[in-house]
Order: sequence, then C-alpha cells, then structure tokens
Amino acid sequence: MQQYGLFIGGKSTVPPRAKRFETVNPTTRESVASFVAGTTDDVDRAVASAAKAFPAWRDTPAPRRGEILLAAAQEMKRRKDELGRLVTTEMGKVISEGLGDVQESIDFIEYMAGEGRRLFGETVPSELRSKFCLTVRQPKGVVACITPWNFPTAIPNWKIAAALICGNTIVFKPATATAGCGAEVVRVYEAAGVPPGVLNFVTGSGGVVGNAMVADPRVRTVSFTGGVEAGRDVYVRGAQGLKMVHLELGGKNPLIVMEDADLKLALDGVLFGAFGTAGQRCTATSRIILHEEVYDEFLGLLTDRLDHFPVGDPLDPKTGMGPVASADQERKVLEYIQVGRKDSKLRYGGHKLQGGAFDRGFFIEPTIFETQHGSRISKEEIFGPVLSVLRVPSYEEAVRVANDVEYGLSSSIYTRDVNRAFRAIHDLEAGITYVNAPTIGAEVQLPFGGIKNTGTGGREAGSVAVEEFTEIKSVFIDFSSRLQKAQIDTPTMK
Ligand code: NAP
Repeated sequence: MQQYGLFIGGKSTVPPRAKRFETVNPTTRESVASFVAGTTDDVDRAVASAAKAFPAWRDTPAPRRGEILLAAAQEMKRRKDELGRLVTTEMGKVISEGLGDVQESIDFIEYMAGEGRRLFGETVPSELRSKFCLTVRQPKGVVACITPWNFPTAIPNWKIAAALICGNTIVFKPATATAGCGAEVVRVYEAAGVPPGVLNFVTGSGGVVGNAMVADPRVRTVSFTGGVEAGRDVYVRGAQGLKMVHLELGGKNPLIVMEDADLKLALDGVLFGAFGTAGQRCTATSRIILHEEVYDEFLGLLTDRLDHFPVGDPLDPKTGMGPVASADQERKVLEYIQVGRKDSKLRYGGHKLQGGAFDRGFFIEPTIFETQHGSRISKEEIFGPVLSVLRVPSYEEAVRVANDVEYGLSSSIYTRDVNRAFRAIHDLEAGITYVNAPTIGAEVQLPFGGIKNTGTGGREAGSVAVEEFTEIKSVFIDFSSRLQKAQIDTPTMK
C-alpha cells in the first residue's frame, strides 16, 4: 500500500512517531493508501514554511506564476486517467465523473494561468488636476485551504490555482476520506515547478489540523468548503483572529418542472442531477417541485427509468451510480431514509443494496420520497441519493417552496415559456440558476457559490476567483509638484 508523508518546505516528511490513518475504497472497503495523522506541530512547521516562501513567490511576476500553473495543467492532463481512477477508487463516483473531476481541475488551472496576465486593477479619475488614481491587487500572504471529499481534485485546485496565481503561499488540508487525491494534487504542482514552501500539505483530522490552521495568526485567509456545521465553527474561530474566511457550504437544491416542460429533457436532468455522484454534490438536485398537471406522469416516467438505472462498480463505464463515499455517509443517508419513512411516502428504493459485490461496499438504492414542504427531508441537506418530490399548483407556489430553505446554492426550472424562465432567474434565491438543465454542471469560467447558509457571499471560479485571494490597494500619484488637498482644493465650475 502506498504510504504518503506530509509535504512541507518542498519535501515529503514523516514526523518521528507519527500516527497514521488509511483511506478506504467505498466499493470494496479495502484500504487505498496510508497517511500521517498531522498534529498542531506539523501545522506550525507548514505555516512557517509558507510564511518563509511568501516574499519570493509574491515577487515572482504573475505571468511567470501562470507558466507554472500551465505546467501543472499539462501534468494533470498527462496523468488524467490515473488520477480519475484514483478519484473513483477513493470516493466512489463513477469513472466518467472521476475523469470529469480531473478535467475540471485542468480547465480551472488553465483558466487561472491566464489570469497571470490579467489580475486587473482599475484606473479611476481624480477630483484634482495632475493626479492619477489606480488600484493594484496584492496577495494576502499565507492562506489555509480546507477541502471536502466529494470533488477531491477539483475543489483543491479551485483554491490552490487561484491562491497561487495571486501570489499567496498555501497550507492545504484535504478531507481525511480522500487524502490520496489531495496528495497527488500536490505532487502535480511539485512536478510543475512550484518552489519549495509555496504549497504545503498536512493530512489529518479537521478537529486537529483544520483547527490549528484556522487558529494560526500567520494565516490571513481561510478558504473552506464543507458542511454548514464545520463551516460555522471555522467562521467563528476565524473571526476571532479577524481573518478573511471564505465559506462554500451545503445546498438543498430545487428543480422545478412546470406544466409546459419538455418532460423527457427534465427526466434526463433529474436522473443526472439527483443521482450523479450518488447525490453527493453540493449542487445535487435534492428536491423536485412538480406542477400538479404533470406530477403523476413525470413521477411514473422517473420510476420507470430508475428500474433500468445501473448501480454498481463505479469503475465499470456502464454503471450509472456507485456507492456512497464512506461508512459515515452510508449511516447518515440510511438515517435520513428512516426519517423520511416516518413522515413521507416512500415511492422508490429506500434500502441498502445487499448481496454479492454490494455486501463489500456502501451501496444505497436510488430513493424517492413523495413529501410535503416542511418535512425534514424536504429541508435538510441529505447529501446522498435521496430525492424529495413536492407537488405545487402554480409557478408562484413553486418559487415559494424552492426558496423556503436555509440554503441558496443551485436551482433549476424546466419550462418552454421564455418569460417564465426569465422570471425564475429573477425570483429564485440561489447563487446559480439553470434553465432547462439540472442543478449540476457548473463551468469554471463562471463564478460558483451560494447565498444564505450556503456561504459567506464570495465566489470561487470565474474571473472573480481572485477576489478571495487578493487585497486591493488604492494608489494616488500626484504629479502637480505641490500639495493638493482632496475635498478642499477640488476645482469647481464656479
Ligand atoms: P465537512 O465534514 O464539513 O469537512 C470539510 C473539510 O473540513 C474536511 O477537510 C474536514 O476534515 C474539515 N473540517 C471538519 N471540521 C473542521 C473544523 N472544526 N475545523 C477545520 N476543519 C474542519 O464536509 P464534508 O463531509 O467533507 O463535505 C460535504 C459537505 O461539503 C456538504 O455539506 C456539501 O454540500 C459541502 N460542499 C459544498 C460545496 C460548495 O462549493 N458550496 C462543494 C462541495 C461540498 P476531515 O475530513 O478530517 O473531517
């Protein structure tokens, strides 16, 4: 079994008497690889290394940093098949999605490499003569990147590539369940020529390693993606250090099917949106809100399709859905199914899959509940292959139900009415709205993130990704050769 160390100051290191943990293949329960359970001392060394490397990396011209990112993208391309397999092996998404995770990484690193020749500031007119005003972007310093297991290469790369191009140095902690993917992402950057100390990697639990990263006064920005509970904790502790804390958290994403929708198209969208990645995407379709005129027909079509939806080995290209990612995930999802059985009508699935190869892994049937708005399963993030179906009489009620949850990440409407589509773009409370497409499928050149309890308002991806990792400096250049006083000497038309 592969044994990984920490990566600090450009070297793989294993601290003396280090405790270790292993990641587990959710399809077979076999160990995948072994990692150091990092300590607060390890975090201290990693932050010190990032702080030491910061001045030289900050002063490296941004286009040169971009060249290193392009080399990283090339390296990811070269290793795409191997890394895609690792994603599938370590967290269980089907192989096409494992490869998609890596492709998203490649796309975003390339996109951010180009940002090295932009990193735009503004030029702004002065109220005084012979005075020039502009803004420049400067890196924040040492940033902490803490990531979840569901996009185990893409989310680390969203943070790492954006932080690096802006000139920051990094301490990165991956999710414990997918530490191997995190370690290989770091190797990609190392191979691309990122200088020692610029990207440091500490594996270990959120409670120990994550906490220590957030608490360290040398860390100026924390970029966190995960659940609301941990995110709130990180936010509170980061606030005590007056840090910038960027949070990307959960979702309870609605997909509305109106009476005029192309039902076949909506059906394909729901299958992919709800059961892709076994429902473990932050943008997964977890509620479908059906207009009463198409409710029975659509639900019938959906359950018919599920009868032929292949669940099984995620490395088999014919499989539609693999296992959930871990024993913890399996336990949590099965608990929610019990909750649903009490107050909602189980329409499809609802069991742990058993027999043959299923007995080795964490497989759960695609599950559908017919429920009422307000039930627990209609409002809480389940993060598994469990879909809540809600019946509504009108567009207005569909929007009310869609918005009446604590989250606001992704949303979708299927309709052929262009006016209604534009109204939905206006009305749906979410960071992302799709029209005639499922709630999943973001592209890296657009901002990504949500409102309400989904996050703290910033966005990853797109050109705005650099906001998270830069400070804006305002610059005033006076070439009048005399003291000019703003607001006092301002020339007027009098
Ligand atoms: P999680 O349990 O919140 O963990 C996320 C990361 O935070 C992991 O690296 C975890 O370490 C670490 N962590 C946990 N507690 C911490 C603490 N007190 N201080 C610092 N770090 C801590 O989430 P998850 O189960 O990995 O991921 C699923 C969640 O992520 C879902 O809610 C999903 O919606 C959300 N998500 C959101 C987005 C988005 O962009 N909005 C994208 C993907 C996923 P350990 O692994 O060691 O526990």
